[in-house]
Amino acid sequence: MLILLNHPLLTHKLTQLRRKETGTKDFRDTLKEIAGLMAYEITRDLPVKAIKIETPMATCETNELACDVVLVPVLRAGLGMVDGITNLIPSAKVGHIGMSRDHKTLEPMTYYSKFPDNLSQAIVMVLDPMLATGGSSGEAIQVLKDKGAKTIKLVCVVGAPEGVRKIENDHPDVQIFLAGLDKNLNESGYIMPGLGDAGDRLFGTT
Ligand code: URA
Repeated sequence: MLILLNHPLLTHKLTQLRRKETGTKDFRDTLKEIAGLMAYEITRDLPVKAIKIETPMATCETNELACDVVLVPVLRAGLGMVDGITNLIPSAKVGHIGMSRDHKTLEPMTYYSKFPDNLSQAIVMVLDPMLATGGSSGEAIQVLKDKGAKTIKLVCVVGAPEGVRKIENDHPDVQIFLAGLDKNLNESGYIMPGLGDAGDRLFGTT
């Protein structure tokens, strides 16, 4: 299910991210801010439990988070979203997954993965700024399911309809969060109008 987040601050920051004039430092800072703003919306339904604490004045019946959160950035551009979310959820654990494309089959392949061991009871957020074909995000989701993850949220910044359809079709149980839904993919697999190569813009490579 697609959830398109629509907030003036998010839209404004996404516009900054898209501009070709935005350099590496501003791109990095803005992607981090966008991830934090998205996390604020995405975590609305996190479970809490009732607790009693002491304030300096009295006993207070209140709530605290009652779930584990695991972030899984898809290397490498997903790394740019981690800090914005751990700023809000410092207890979150972070796994990593690296995907490449098999030259013969063109299928995404996992070349690296390392996850914390609480996947099955955690709320797992897969982080990938660009949802293009959905190939690598979908494969990352499948790897996490195979390792026992049950509640998975896919957090991207910009998506193409092709990628959204693929994830909805292959993983109907996964919520997809986007800050922008663009028109289509071009013949090279880039999102149009998109923002270019998120990894290159984040790390200053070409
Ligand atoms: N990955 C990117 O970084 N950009 C795109 O437009 C598509 C995939």
